[in-house]
Amino acid sequence: MSGRPRIDFFVATADRLERTLEPVETGRCYACKREFSFDPGEVVTFLVDPATGLPPGFSALGSFRPATPEAVARSGDLPVCPDCVERAKRFQPGS
Ligand SMILES: [Zn+2]
Repeated sequence: MSGRPRIDFFVATADRLERTLEPVETGRCYACKREFSFDPGEVVTFLVDPATGLPPGFSALGSFRPATPEAVARSGDLPVCPDCVERAKRFQPGS
């Protein structure tokens, strides 16, 4: 029988594919609007209220009010690219 080596080859290929194919999604960075690929399980996200384009509780005027449950409910997590995450870290030294 010569079938078994082929099955082994298939299993090895599938195994390798599984390790290369990370769950990668493509999206637009909330901060710089650049398109980038990310792993949804690893990416830093920012909660944004689509009505204002800002995190719930923030107004366009820069004032802050406690977020209403409605604002939080309609808000979605937007990805932030690693470059912007690094930049944000540099602006908050030792926090
Ligand atoms: Zn960015």
